[in-house]
Amino acid sequence: MTDARQRVPGTDRVLADPGIAAAAERLGRDLVKRTVHTVQQWARTGEIDPDEVVSTTLRTLPSSASGMRRVLNATGILLHTNLGRAPLSEAAVRALTDAAGTTDVELDLETGARRPRGARTTAALLEAVPGAEAAHVVNNGAAALALAATALAHDKEIVLARGEMVEIGDGFRIPELLAATGARLREVGTTNRVHLGDYRKVVGPETGFVLKVHPSNFVVRGFTSSVPVSELATLDVPVVVDIGSGLLGPNRTLPDEPDATTTLAAGADLVTASGDKLLGGPQSGLLLGDGEVVRRIRRHPLARALRVDKLTLAALEATVRGPDTPTARALRQEQRTLRSRAEHLAAELREAGVTAGVRATDARVGGGGAPEMALPSAAVCVPEPLAAGLRSGRPPVLGRVDRNQCLLDLFALAPEDDRTLLRAIVEAGS
Ligand SMILES: *Cc1c(COP(=O)(O)O)cnc(C)c1O
Repeated sequence: MTDARQRVPGTDRVLADPGIAAAAERLGRDLVKRTVHTVQQWARTGEIDPDEVVSTTLRTLPSSASGMRRVLNATGILLHTNLGRAPLSEAAVRALTDAAGTTDVELDLETGARRPRGARTTAALLEAVPGAEAAHVVNNGAAALALAATALAHDKEIVLARGEMVEIGDGFRIPELLAATGARLREVGTTNRVHLGDYRKVVGPETGFVLKVHPSNFVVRGFTSSVPVSELATLDVPVVVDIGSGLLGPNRTLPDEPDATTTLAAGADLVTASGDKLLGGPQSGLLLGDGEVVRRIRRHPLARALRVDKLTLAALEATVRGPDTPTARALRQEQRTLRSRAEHLAAELREAGVTAGVRATDARVGGGGAPEMALPSAAVCVPEPLAAGLRSGRPPVLGRVDRNQCLLDLFALAPEDDRTLLRAIVEAGS
């Protein structure tokens, strides 16, 4: 033991190693030094051989200065909140990398004059949703709703059906968010039913707007009724619709999911939505609709506090203008394609000595919408004990455990990642 301790190389010697020195350039000296100290401690306690300090340090160092790592989503949940919802398209990633340095976010390079921030991004949104006269982008869906409530209904009433008083997740509730803006909530109807007459009875000079919230994470079945946007639009007050998922137009795979174009055509004055759900873009909140309504929102002092950064604006524009997002592509997949990918992978795994099979599964959209929609998919199944190794692999892979097996669902995983998945499973199984 004493001998091993004496053989542990000193910090300066480890830092002088060319590989470690290069890592220090990339990751920062302090971060690398902290890792060296940890690894030296492992050598002192005999967990590793003192000769392995350099190689273990290199293996332990993160690939970037941020601790956030790429994780392969094999959960079968397309928009997984814990995995950061929608993965960005390559076009969006390129756009945000280009915008990362100094960029013309508020500048017209042709004239040299100032350009309103986000102008190109809102122009892209308006091209995609011609029914909207104006658009504005904020931090997330909740911010879009909070800003609309503050700008349009401060000291006034927001009329909301009891069946649409939604908890989004992590304990956050839309009615509480609205109340926090200083608006008064006026509840109408019951948990299961609401009629146009219920709204008609309460709207008046005190009304800021009528709000319709899409139940994006639950379903109410049985003796139910709600009032469609087209009927709410006959009331003489503004109608705001929180569609949640951010679809700009109808999606064939998800026919029941509301979208901005259809909702505005039905008569909504304003639509609010998230950018990182079914739209497949960066975290953001979209406000689309009537020109005067959006102008009031944009001019409100709170808008400055909720404004998005240049990276979001760049990624969102590329998401809207660019090629199909990974989310859109995933939604178009056919089960037989997924099944054949799974069979291929399982065969290669068996060849590599890993017990593997294929199972038909139901994938889900996830927190982003369509709560009950089963999306026919396929998974590679491997022995349950592999799940932990996969989670701590490089890259980490997140599957789900079901009936003593670890299922690696291919629905949310791009086909380009199949080789990486294969390598990760083989490594976890060896
Ligand atoms: C997701 C969601 C929100 C919240 O959006 P965030 O982008 O998570 O802030 C609000 N309303 C509905 C209906 C949603 O589905």
